[in-house]
Amino acid sequence: MSKQKVLILGAGAAGSVVANKLAREFRRDIARDKLEITILDRNDVNINQGGFTFLPFGLYTPDDITRPRRMLISPRVKAVFGVDGEVKRVDLKKKEVTVESGKTYAYDYLVIATGCRADVDQIPGLSKDFNSFYTSIDDALRLGEKLKNFDSGKVVILTARMPIPCPGAPGKFTVLLDAYLRYIRGEDIRKDVEITYLLPIELIGPPAYNAIISSVFEERDIELIRKFVVDEVNAGQKEVVSVDGEKIEYDLLVTIPPYTNTKAMLDSGITDENGWIPVDKHTLQYHRGSESYEEVYALGDIGPAEILKTGIGAHYQAYIVAQNLINEIRGNGSKVSYLGETGCPFVGSRYTSRTRGEAYIATWNYEKPLEPFKATELGWFLYRTYYYIYWDGAIKAVM
Ligand SMILES: Cc1cc2nc3c(=O)[nH]c(=O)nc-3n(C[C@H](O)[C@H](O)[C@H](O)COP(=O)(O)OP(=O)(O)OC[C@H]3O[C@@H](n4cnc5c(N)ncnc54)[C@H](O)[C@@H]3O)c2cc1C
Repeated sequence: MSKQKVLILGAGAAGSVVANKLAREFRRDIARDKLEITILDRNDVNINQGGFTFLPFGLYTPDDITRPRRMLISPRVKAVFGVDGEVKRVDLKKKEVTVESGKTYAYDYLVIATGCRADVDQIPGLSKDFNSFYTSIDDALRLGEKLKNFDSGKVVILTARMPIPCPGAPGKFTVLLDAYLRYIRGEDIRKDVEITYLLPIELIGPPAYNAIISSVFEERDIELIRKFVVDEVNAGQKEVVSVDGEKIEYDLLVTIPPYTNTKAMLDSGITDENGWIPVDKHTLQYHRGSESYEEVYALGDIGPAEILKTGIGAHYQAYIVAQNLINEIRGNGSKVSYLGETGCPFVGSRYTSRTRGEAYIATWNYEKPLEPFKATELGWFLYRTYYYIYWDGAIKAVM
């Protein structure tokens, strides 16, 4: 039998887990040159984006939330990073992927996990006053510097469009901002700062999540404006204008920009009407109208709008995709199904000299809605610790 080739695009939260799980399962086949697993990425540093929310407040450092990819991917996997790993085009009919350097990779099985990207230019005027913790380590640190020197005025936190990765993160940031101004900078600062949170939809997450975060906002004097769909940012006037003509003034605007698919996927013509990769929500196999490619899987942030974009979800999906590849390659006739397991960590308060940290890892799936919950101090410690376990536990696919 000729050597089987599994090609994984993207070595982030989802792709790394698939690669490492397959490498462990197929170690003998790889050693006997019967199977090859290749993973491509445009760069060689893995960033845990979940840590961006904490960076402006000094709760993690860039070192905590980054690792060289070579430390994370099994040596049994052929890892290609840089121009030879930067995907330019995917041809599902030819079963071939072309990268920036011009090289091509053929595959028997393809796993697409190149995530999504911020698209600041979708909102007129936004790039003229763009502050964000969402988009990069540098942006999050720059925002942190601004917050260190922000003594009075109005901070507006704007989520421009849905879907975004981790829809709970803007709320988490807002709670941490309140605690930072109140307990780290001091009560005198917080009473001179107004905080307003603008949301384009009705609810922050599932109803049980929305209920608890809304009550925390009320308790902390954070204004919440729902269904505010931004039309433009007027940087000169320092105001955000909605599609209904409502104007909200600000002194500091913190924006979660719109998100879209990577250029490579859009250019390949394999996306759905919303620009995402269309997969069956249970099998995660490619399916667009009458077009199906059973050997192609897509997971993580690149998936269709009906699948929530979270690291927790990406992790569950990676186990499903890896297991179905194992079943398929071994020819054992079994299949496992993604049931929509996902989640969003909730933060009710942070640990300071005056307050105890409170958090809860909220999870739910397609069938089972999130139940009402209470954040705990243990939840806070677990959540904080998870960022260190992430590298050797989650990404290496041992938990
Ligand atoms: C501010 C913020 C806070 C978050 N907080 C949480 C949280 O608390 N909990 C949670 O569960 N989730 C959280 N998330 C979401 C989580 O980070 C994502 O859902 C997760 O990273 C998705 O995994 P992925 O593998 O699909 O994408 P990514 O992890 O983004 O990986 C995609 C990979 O593809 C690579 N790539 C992109 N384009 C190309 C190309 N053309 N060629 C080759 N490689 C390419 C990238 O370099 C990257 O390594 C947060 C996200 C943000 C932005």
